[in-house]
Parts: sequence; structure tokens; C-alpha cells
Amino acid sequence: MLEIGCHLSSSKGYEAMAKEANKICANTFQFFTRNPRGGKAKEISQEDIDAFLLKAKEQGINRILAHAPYTLNACSADESIREFAVNTMRDDLKRMEYTPGNCYNFHPGSHVKQGVEIGIQYIADMLNEILLPEQSTMVLLETMAGKGSEIGRSFEELREIIDRVELKEKIGVCLDTCHVYDSGYDIAGDLDGVLTQFDQVIGLERLKAIHLNDSMYGLGSHKDRHAKIGEGKLGLDAIVRIINHSALRKLPFYLETPNDLAGYAREISLLRESYKEL
Ligand code: FE
Ligand code: FE
Ligand code: ZN
Repeated sequence: MLEIGCHLSSSKGYEAMAKEANKICANTFQFFTRNPRGGKAKEISQEDIDAFLLKAKEQGINRILAHAPYTLNACSADESIREFAVNTMRDDLKRMEYTPGNCYNFHPGSHVKQGVEIGIQYIADMLNEILLPEQSTMVLLETMAGKGSEIGRSFEELREIIDRVELKEKIGVCLDTCHVYDSGYDIAGDLDGVLTQFDQVIGLERLKAIHLNDSMYGLGSHKDRHAKIGEGKLGLDAIVRIINHSALRKLPFYLETPNDLAGYAREISLLRESYKEL
């Protein structure tokens, strides 16, 4: 069965997200660990977690994906901003252990004039500081559109970060279909070629999740503007090829398209109809 969901608001807790997922026929979902701008995280309630775990089991939700606040910048030139990223992510990873065995995705960061090399080193340093051998959570680097000085615009940049991390078994990648297309990988015209490249540079075994978005702008535009499924430059056919591709079809897919809940429900239903059971 296709494992698909969308980004949900975490403000009402875990059980509320499971209920919302159920309404839209999602069997997984993504959520921010705290305010996306990075404020203080809400206290986790064990009661809420227990209720969530029960519901998840009933509904066939086998995994969920957490997303770090997008304002974190682990490779800022400003030491206090880097420190904030370390402290926030360390706290998030502690909280992730309430729902063990899931993934935590983050944006590598923007180097802002320091250069890619320094940026990559800062990101690897942070990961070496926060990753613990006993954690059950896998941390995912998201492929980025390459807006401004974003790191992670190429598979090589992500590979370079992974190479410098000691606990490599805790690191994976989340591929965002809008971002990779924006950064110049033609997943609409040559999906096989892009996945071969991914495999050669990073290794497909590291690919743990897909952000499934259409893109408002064209190949290599570096714009990072998500579009509804089938309403962007990727188009529905390309997205249907992505969810059915033999290297991807068993991964969890997360919609981050500009939609309300009813819109997500429509996209999930459309994609379920387009998924070929083998
Ligand atoms: Fe993201
Ligand atoms: Fe994304
Ligand atoms: Zn994006």
C-alpha cells in the first residue's frame, strides 16, 4: 500500500494529528517539532503519546516524520545562532524518543558568504555533537533548492556532510521533489538518471523519505515555491512515475503542497488511485 500523508499542525498534540490523518486517509504524516520559527517546544504529555501510539496502530500508521524548525541554521557565521541550532536539535532528538524509531528531517543551512566548505564543516560538527549511539531516531538531511547560499543543493554536498559524520548509521536523506527539480535534477524528464546519480553519489540505501511537491518554477530555477500536485512544472505524470518507481515505491511520501486539509485529502486520494499495487 502507498504510504502517504502530508504536513500536519502539531499544536494540538500527537493524538490529534493521528485523528486528522485518519480523516484524509493518510497512513503517515509530517509535523514540526515546535513552532516552525523555532520557539520553545510544547511539553510532551505521556498520556497524549500513549493515545497516539494506540491510534497509530489501529490506523496502520507505521512511521511518522518530524521536521526541525526551518529557521535553524547550523552553519551560520554567528556562533550564537549555531549554538541555538545545536541546543534545539538536541532537545528535539530527546523528545523524538517518546515515539522511537522515526526520522527527524532538517535543512542543512545557509553558509551566507562563508563558502560551501566552511558551511559543510559546521553542519558535520553539529551532527557529531548531537548524535548519540543509543538514539533510535534517524536524522535526515533534506535536499535543497539552492536558494541563496543553501547547502544541500547537490547530492555531492550532502555526501560531503555524511562523509564527515562519525555515526553515519544515524544519517539519511529526505528527497524533496520540488527542491531537487529547482536545483537542476530533471526528475520529470529523466527520473532513472537522477536516481542513478543519487545512488552513485549518496547511495539509495540512505534515502528514507520523499517530500512530494510539484514546483511552481522550472528546472534549475532555485526558487523553492511548491505547487499543488499536477499544477506545477513537474506535472501529474511525472509525480505518478515517482510514487511508482521501483526504487521509491516503498518509501513514505509527504505532501507539502499549498493546501488546506480538504485539498490534501483530494491529493492523497488521487495518488492512491494512481499507485499500482504489484
Ligand atoms: Fe523542509
Ligand atoms: Fe521539503
Ligand atoms: Zn521547499
